[in-house]
Amino acid sequence: MIIVGNWKMFFGPDPSELMGLDAIFCPPYTRLAECVEAGLTTYAQNVHWDAEGAYTGEISPPMLLSIGVTGSLVGHSERRQYFGDSDETVGLRTRGALHAGLRVVACVGETIEERRAGKTNAVLRRQLSVLEPHPNLVLAYEPVWAIGTGHTATPEIAQEAHAFIKSHLDAPVIYGGSMKPENAESLLSQPDVDGALVGGASLDVASFTAICQTAARIPS
Ligand code: PEP
Repeated sequence: MIIVGNWKMFFGPDPSELMGLDAIFCPPYTRLAECVEAGLTTYAQNVHWDAEGAYTGEISPPMLLSIGVTGSLVGHSERRQYFGDSDETVGLRTRGALHAGLRVVACVGETIEERRAGKTNAVLRRQLSVLEPHPNLVLAYEPVWAIGTGHTATPEIAQEAHAFIKSHLDAPVIYGGSMKPENAESLLSQPDVDGALVGGASLDVASFTAICQTAARIPS
């Protein structure tokens, strides 16, 4: 099971309270070094595709690797919704990061309008079309309507989407969208759910620890 905590633009917990958890942590940039130094597996929340250049506000793969960061999220729906990330830039970021030696968790998922219009599979197919299998690539199925809303996908919806994604791209697929200790077991028990990307609940040490403990009990 792959459990990832995305702290978004929050300061987040004290890394010393997270030591020993079998998880990946995505803190804001200013806390990356602190998490690395505490011995946590640490990923960025976003990464550019070039090694350097005139790209104000971006961060490059070698820069992350230079401080011990070993991976990055790419294409989170908040990046797509608010900061103009497109399928094209998600493909570029993913390829650039993997080529440089970072691991990548690439996020895909439909909006509520797309789901209601019966377009979920078409959207996932389009988002996946810019990605290729790679040993260091993990996909995150994050239905946009479930992120930060408290409306978790049912285990059946998650399983169906994960199976569809895997039929198009051979990679582990983790689920993200309002996961909490109370719903973790039913989601993580689905045969094609290989872990979780946890936002809000990763900011609370007790909740995140409980999700990690649940994951550890479920055979991969
Ligand atoms: C996320 O940020 O990727 C996420 C899934 O958030 P939340 O768990 O808060 O829905």
